[in-house]
Amino acid sequence: MHDVIIVGGGPTGFVTALGLAQSGVEVLLVEAEDAINDAPRAAVYHWSMLDGLERLGIREEAERIGFPKDDYLWWVRETGERIEYDLKVLSRVTRFNYNINMGQDKLAAIARARLEALPNAEIRFGTRLERLEQDESCVTLTLANGEQLKARYVVGADGAGSTVRQQLGLTFDGFTWPERFVATNVYHDFTQDDYWQSNMVIDAKWGAVIVKIARDGLWRCTYMEDAALPIESYAERIPEAYRHFMHNGGEYRLDAASPYVMHQRCASSFRKGRVLLAGDSAHVTNPTGGFGLTTGLFDAYALWPTLAAVIRDSADEALLDIWAEERRAIFLDKTSPQACVYKDFVFHACGGGEKLEAAVEGMRAMARDPEVRLERLMFTKGLETTSPAER
Ligand SMILES: Cc1cc2nc3c(=O)[nH]c(=O)nc-3n(C[C@H](O)[C@H](O)[C@H](O)COP(=O)(O)OP(=O)(O)OC[C@H]3O[C@@H](n4cnc5c(N)ncnc54)[C@H](O)[C@@H]3O)c2cc1C
Repeated sequence: MHDVIIVGGGPTGFVTALGLAQSGVEVLLVEAEDAINDAPRAAVYHWSMLDGLERLGIREEAERIGFPKDDYLWWVRETGERIEYDLKVLSRVTRFNYNINMGQDKLAAIARARLEALPNAEIRFGTRLERLEQDESCVTLTLANGEQLKARYVVGADGAGSTVRQQLGLTFDGFTWPERFVATNVYHDFTQDDYWQSNMVIDAKWGAVIVKIARDGLWRCTYMEDAALPIESYAERIPEAYRHFMHNGGEYRLDAASPYVMHQRCASSFRKGRVLLAGDSAHVTNPTGGFGLTTGLFDAYALWPTLAAVIRDSADEALLDIWAEERRAIFLDKTSPQACVYKDFVFHACGGGEKLEAAVEGMRAMARDPEVRLERLMFTKGLETTSPAER
């Protein structure tokens, strides 16, 4: 019998597994695919997440492999207005007053390498969970090959289509957006087109998030298209989209691209008995603002110390309920509403008129007044909850 089985080898699964294993808990992580998924998805680790990476001993490595940066440009396409600011004001509250830009597969790979060096951790790729049952003493997992595994606790970190969540009979309430996002990784020097390193292009038709994500000149360019357009031909439309973002022309080399259906959805509970849900298996949001994995990693940062305390120190299992309720409330009350506000701003220009002017004025205030800037930058810190076992 394993102490904990983590289902899903995305960033949430690997980070949770690392925290547990470093605490002395015996962990098995099972991942359905043969390798970590490297499709273009999360790319920004907000400053507020770096303490958690530091605690796991991987902040420096993430910084070395990724790309630390602290500048933002909000560019209103129709008027040409540019609103610029940096994160230096955060030095009042943290020594890590910058973000790290890096593909999420890189973070998962860093945690994986650390796990592989620990004697109490095991990773199995090509291992798909199919069925899950539990009783008072343990959880039984049946794999696609018919093999059965047993664990005292299971963490479902198996993404938006979570088998774990479905096996628990939990609902995934919310809605699906009528648009699709197209995330592209591209080699092109966007600074030639007057962008900074992190850019929000505000426009009702050609809104975009354009961010440098690696030191070698790789950028992420994410834009939106009508989900009624045929998905099979999304790649044929990329050159036209790029013409709107690469104003000064110039060469580019497309590295990877992926279309995404977007949702705002949340599981009816993040705990059922001996099974916990974290990351996208528990909640999904549109990616504007980069709050999806941010919330998932904060789930992980608070979960691993709690579960370790229950397993290693016989702490009260009720702490897991507190964790589950607090994380769910964070998603419903903060993550999801703010991601919707940002999507409306960046990709729909708030429908124009007074609403747009009010949103732009908010950004202007942020740029000109350090107090407003600090207050607004603290938003992502508010997505964190501490482990109930450590209060
Ligand atoms: C275009 C785009 C941009 C984004 N940008 C950001 C950003 O900048 N910042 C941010 O915070 N978030 C961002 N997000 C959201 C972010 O990508 C997700 O929140 C993140 O992937 C969640 O990680 P996860 O580990 O919970 O799940 P996933 O990354 O989905 O990993 C789940 C894993 O479980 C495995 N799995 C599934 N089923 C099974 C099974 N039955 N058995 C075993 N394994 C299984 C899968 O193969 C997968 O490897 C973005 C999303 C998109 C689409």
